[in-house]
Amino acid sequence: KASFKDFEQIPGMDAYERAAYFDTYLNFLDDRGHLNYRIKTVSGCGPEVMLELKGKTRPRKFISLVSNDYLGFTQHPEVKAAAVAAIGKYGTGTGASPAIGGHFDFHEALEQKIAGFFRRGSAIVYTTGYTANSASLQSLLRRNDLAILDMAVHASVYEGCLQCDTKRFPHNNLQELERILTISRGKYQTRMVIIDGVYSQDGDFAHLPEIVKLCKQYGAYLVVDDAHGTGVIGKTGRGVIEHYDLFQEVDIITGTFSKSFAHIGGYLIAKPEVVRYLKFQARQHLFSVTAAPASACILKSIDLIDEEPQWMRKLWENVEYFKSGLKGLGLNTGNTQSAIIPVKIGDPYKTAQAAKLLMDAGIYTNPIIYPAVSPADARIRMSVMATHTFEHLDQVLNAFEQVSHKLNLKTTAAIV
Ligand code: PMP
Repeated sequence: KASFKDFEQIPGMDAYERAAYFDTYLNFLDDRGHLNYRIKTVSGCGPEVMLELKGKTRPRKFISLVSNDYLGFTQHPEVKAAAVAAIGKYGTGTGASPAIGGHFDFHEALEQKIAGFFRRGSAIVYTTGYTANSASLQSLLRRNDLAILDMAVHASVYEGCLQCDTKRFPHNNLQELERILTISRGKYQTRMVIIDGVYSQDGDFAHLPEIVKLCKQYGAYLVVDDAHGTGVIGKTGRGVIEHYDLFQEVDIITGTFSKSFAHIGGYLIAKPEVVRYLKFQARQHLFSVTAAPASACILKSIDLIDEEPQWMRKLWENVEYFKSGLKGLGLNTGNTQSAIIPVKIGDPYKTAQAAKLLMDAGIYTNPIIYPAVSPADARIRMSVMATHTFEHLDQVLNAFEQVSHKLNLKTTAAIV
């Protein structure tokens, strides 16, 4: 079985030859119907979407479970109106990087608002959540520093740690984290433990109270990327940090505006001097244009989290309903505690087949296989939204019942 990895590092080939070789691999997958990525959406994102599938002349309606727009705010009239108003006032772009003319009043308002959202004083805003991690960590961690990573952290964290030493501990394994903290003591100038709040593939939480305790005990800094928890977890949507009431115990919080906040962009929250350092040191911030005026709509979506808590309530009703429905079918949803719902299948080919059968039934999900998860951990990954109705979810459950029957997913569920 050819794997993605075999096509990444091929000795004796130049860049164009590698690309051509990789192309043959993609064609190989495509010919077998396994290239289910970059499906073309021709509507807004939401619980129902219009997809234009290859070889079909007309777009078709699907129930979608692929969006991280958990609260449905990408379609909220007030969020849309705020984006339109900002474009009306400022135009479509900002024209420069922040140090040389691209820093606008709405950027500063956004920095203050997101810091205040987490009951903190200072934040830096990036143009993506990815750079909030990669650019910040690259500037903070150098040669004599150590990054200690939960193995399941997001790719952007890994990219941020290319210049420093790294050690990884198995997902949420506190004994192994403590072992690394013990053996690395006194050997580095900085030790930084970096975790997600909610893990993006399994949907489970970090064991935050224990990790905070270990970091304090061993004198390490703690960074939490709560991209998937923010806006949906905790009594008022402040994320896993609120869930455990540890607002002030985490050194650095990072996250994205692309999920519950319904736009694009990222942020990092830390002590004022760390934030100021990044504003003048993080290269992808310093040398890259600032977020476009439409991003002023994020100010509205942050407000809506407090003003319209009904969306978060409905999301949780949906999550519980859907999860218990899947469990009722004997499927394995793992340890999820969030709106990310995996159905663990294990075999990558069966997973691809399941996704295809669901598509045939009008249900749009993502098959997740290596390298996003380990080879034996393939699954269908779904995100529930506040704007799904129980009728939508019933249709998905019915389709799963058929697919499970056809592919014998119950037996697989028992052994994954
Ligand atoms: N962190 C985590 C945990 C994520 O899941 C993602 C997005 N998939 C990011 C960071 C990157 O955010 P963005 O897509 O806004 O760049």
